Amino acid sequence: MSCFLTVKNLFKEYEGCRALRGVNFGLEKGDFLSLFGPNGAGKSTLLGIVSTLVSPSSGQIEIKGFDLTEEPEQFKKQLGVISHNSLLYDHMTALENLIFYASLYKVKAPENRAVELLRVVELYPRRHSRVGQFSRGMRQRLSVARALVNDPALLLLDEPYSGLDQYAAAILTEQLAELKSKERTVIMVTHNLDHGLNSATKVGILSAGCLVFMEERDSVDPALFEVEYLRHVQGAVRA
Ligand code: ADP
Ligand code: MG
Repeated sequence: MSCFLTVKNLFKEYEGCRALRGVNFGLEKGDFLSLFGPNGAGKSTLLGIVSTLVSPSSGQIEIKGFDLTEEPEQFKKQLGVISHNSLLYDHMTALENLIFYASLYKVKAPENRAVELLRVVELYPRRHSRVGQFSRGMRQRLSVARALVNDPALLLLDEPYSGLDQYAAAILTEQLAELKSKERTVIMVTHNLDHGLNSATKVGILSAGCLVFMEERDSVDPALFEVEYLRHVQGAVRA
């Protein structure tokens, strides 16, 4: 196990449902994996397990050699997560939310870090507004800032573009490009081929709990990849 991230023989069974059936892959530092797959394929389960929110039935995961079950605290320190749950507090302002998370992660000078990130996601002018009043796009941008607060080595994004308008999507794309230039490692689940292929160094397809496709981005022809992806989506509809 010498990769930055190693996922080995990962299985997850919910009651009566086999969500992951032996998933194996590795990522190097700086890799950006775009993960595609039909609804119900197990994508959120996989990200949930790597983000430590869902416990695996069996298998092994390591980040920088830290084992998920043996060294959970070291493992968690490496993570930033953007999922369906924004993890933001509606009754608090944007600034208060970020200061809260910065303090939680013991970031030095939490307020400075919060202000810096608010500028990055272009929410600084709204820093004193309560998050409960934010639009979907604004919440999503603030979630990006929240996930970056500890400068995570591994960022997990579950459908981060869903519900974003073009403006918010463009800010997110810019943010992701910046992460790539900083050699951060990213796993992004998306249904959007353009977004997924543009950002990626690796592309994967998860289908019925199995990783059925995993290639270097540069060796993938977008048109052929689309056919492969649609084949699995249609297969899932028929199943
Ligand atoms: P995806 O994100 O690819 O759409 P999920 O990981 O959400 O897929 O779900 C994979 C499978 O696991 C689905 O069949 C789903 O119904 C099931 N599943 C997900 N979460 C739970 C849960 N908490 N309890 C029971 N079954 C679940
Ligand atoms: Mg999902």
